[in-house]
Amino acid sequence: MTTPRRTAIIAGNWKMHYGPKEAASFTWEILPELGKLVRSSPHILSILCPPSISLTAVREVLDADPSPRLELGAQNMHFEDKGAFTGEIAPLMVRELCSTVILGHSERRAYFHESDELVNKKMLAALYHGLRPIVCVGENEQQHETGETEQVIRRQVHLSLANITASGNQARRVVIAYEPIWAIGTGKAATVEGAGSVIAFIRQQYSTMYGEEAASAIRILYGGSVTSANIAEFMAHPDIDGALVGGASLKPDFVEIVRKTIEVIL
Ligand code: PEP
Repeated sequence: MTTPRRTAIIAGNWKMHYGPKEAASFTWEILPELGKLVRSSPHILSILCPPSISLTAVREVLDADPSPRLELGAQNMHFEDKGAFTGEIAPLMVRELCSTVILGHSERRAYFHESDELVNKKMLAALYHGLRPIVCVGENEQQHETGETEQVIRRQVHLSLANITASGNQARRVVIAYEPIWAIGTGKAATVEGAGSVIAFIRQQYSTMYGEEAASAIRILYGGSVTSANIAEFMAHPDIDGALVGGASLKPDFVEIVRKTIEVIL
C-alpha cells in the first residue's frame, strides 16, 4: 500500500509589492480561476501572503467569494501579544485575518537580522495562537558551493523549530519551506533532485526532534524561482509537498502554478 500524498500547499509571497488597492484588484483578477481550481481538488491548499497593510483588502475580496482551501497569510509578525513595539503586528492581529504566517524568510534573516532564536519565538507564538507557521530555511551560495548545506540546514531546523510541545497537533501543524538563497529571485531554481534530497534531510532532522509520525505529517515546500514552467517537475518528487512562490505569485502565472500542481497530485 502506498502512503497517501500530503495535501499540497502553493503559497504566494508577495513581499513588498501591492498596496491595498493593487492587492485587491490583483486578487479580484485571479480569484475566479483560482477559486475554481482549489474547489476542484481537496488535495490542494493555496495561500496568498500580501504585505501586512494589504491583508484587510485581500481578506475582503476573499470573503466576497469564499473558497475552501484558499487562505490568507502574513509575511511576518512579532512574538509578543501586544505592547510598545512600533511598526510590528501581533499574532492575534494576524489571526483575525489569516490562517498562516511566513517566518524566518531569508530576506528577514539577512536585512532585519532575524536569528534562529528569534524565528523560534515567533514560531512558538504562531502555534500557540492557532496559526500555521511556514518556517523558511536555506543555505546561501557560498555555503552551497562549499558543501555546507546540511550543516547549515541542520542548525536552522534544530534552532528555529525547537521546543514545540509534544502534546496536541502542534508539531504536525508546522510547515517548512526549503529556500536555497541562491535560487530566490534569480531565475536559477535548484534541481529537483537537489531540492528533494535537502527536503528529505529536513524531514529526517524533524523526525529526530518530534518523532516519525509528526515528521511524516508535516508539509515541506520548495522555494526559489518556481514558475508554471518548472512546478510540475518539483511536484513529481514525492518528498516535495508544494512551493513558496515569490516573483511568479505577483502574476496570473500563480494560477497556472496551482493548476499544474493539481494535475500532478491528482
Ligand atoms: C521567495 O521569496 O520566497 C521566493 C521563493 O522568491 P522567487 O520565487 O521569486 O524566487
